[in-house]
Amino acid sequence: MKIRIIGGGPAGLYFAALMKRENPAHDVVVFERGPRDATWGFGVVFSDRALEFLRADDEAMYQLLTPLMETWPNLTIVHNDTPVPITGNGFASIGRLELLSRLYAHAESLGVKIEFDSEVTTLDHPALAGADLIVGANGAFSWVRNENEDRFGTETDMRPNRFIWYGTSKVFDSLSLTFRETEHGVFCAHHYRYSPTMSTFLVEVTDATWQRAGFAGMNEDETIRHCEQVFANDLGGAPILSNKSYWRQFPAVTNRQWSFGNVVLMGDALRTAHFSIGSGTRLAMEDAIALWKALRDSGSLAEGMALYQERRLPPMKKILDAATASIRWYERMDQLICLSPVDFAYSYMTRTGRVDHSEVTRRDPKLAAAWEHSHPEIFGDSY
Ligand SMILES: Cc1cc2nc3c(=O)[nH]c(=O)nc-3n(C[C@H](O)[C@H](O)[C@H](O)COP(=O)(O)OP(=O)(O)OC[C@H]3O[C@@H](n4cnc5c(N)ncnc54)[C@H](O)[C@@H]3O)c2cc1C
Repeated sequence: MKIRIIGGGPAGLYFAALMKRENPAHDVVVFERGPRDATWGFGVVFSDRALEFLRADDEAMYQLLTPLMETWPNLTIVHNDTPVPITGNGFASIGRLELLSRLYAHAESLGVKIEFDSEVTTLDHPALAGADLIVGANGAFSWVRNENEDRFGTETDMRPNRFIWYGTSKVFDSLSLTFRETEHGVFCAHHYRYSPTMSTFLVEVTDATWQRAGFAGMNEDETIRHCEQVFANDLGGAPILSNKSYWRQFPAVTNRQWSFGNVVLMGDALRTAHFSIGSGTRLAMEDAIALWKALRDSGSLAEGMALYQERRLPPMKKILDAATASIRWYERMDQLICLSPVDFAYSYMTRTGRVDHSEVTRRDPKLAAAWEHSHPEIFGDSY
């Protein structure tokens, strides 16, 4: 099969590798508009069971990536100056460039051709001529999807919060969400180390806070200085670092139809999942596994595309529903900050509806007990 993949992110690269592993005779080329040695962003985090999802289908990939990951067992919610550590929440992280570099090497070792600095901007591009399968794996702002919205039944809901993806040389010892009230509103930093020397430091604010703080009129340095001031206590003098960082709003994207003809979507091009649930990269790689298996198990391309959507939609939808609830929680942070630190942390833990009180109790009995104690109206005076 002649397979042409637009976008060399986790989805496109991993799919390329799986197809080539399945059948070395496949002719697989990935077009990546960026260079080999640079990418946007810093580290990405995987929640809960980290890379376990890879084990059943690709033990080698699991073994390749796992030693590169930073891991820690706990989460810390910082409510102004009060840290609330929460046990029982395992996370793992890796630098985005580190992950991509390993995926490049892995795919190339299997015979995949990766064309860097190659931007493909139309399905009529000569590089795609004669392809049996064209994969749109070109990220959240995919033109493959945008230019065919009617066929895919695309819906894009641009969420109002603003975020900017920074890094810092301060190395944090747990995944932390720090919320600080300022005269302009609440600032939230999602921060965690992703290598022995670096941490992600993603800043998120509501649109109202963003406007009041005057970010629209600030240049890059002023923006960094402002965020450094807000989080001075947390950064402990370490600088905030930029990597093509700019304020963005999150596009919540879904598609009713995942393919047409010989064109199929995967990864963020197919759907986006808010970074606050730490699942976008995993979903992208799971899409790759799902499409590879669906094609393997089908008698024709059309059947394979249909099977891909049919099998993948239910598990994906569960995570998307959680992501949607999580987005909405962050959009209410200016109101939620009025809660006590314990109630705030509890609200965070239960925000997606997937963790109920018994699950909080299982993960962190101390937090559950503290919350019960502050809610005698629910639990009675015996607590
Ligand atoms: C601020 C932020 C923080 C995040 N944090 C996390 C996290 O902690 N954990 C997590 O799991 N996920 C996180 N994500 C999400 C994660 O980055 C994505 O879900 C994941 O990268 C999706 O992979 P992908 O391959 O679909 O797309 P991308 O990683 O976006 O890759 C798409 C690739 O396509 C290339 N491309 C685009 N257009 C073209 C073109 N015309 N021609 C050729 N190439 C093209 C791009 O250069 C890019 O390399 C975060 C996302 C953001 C924005």
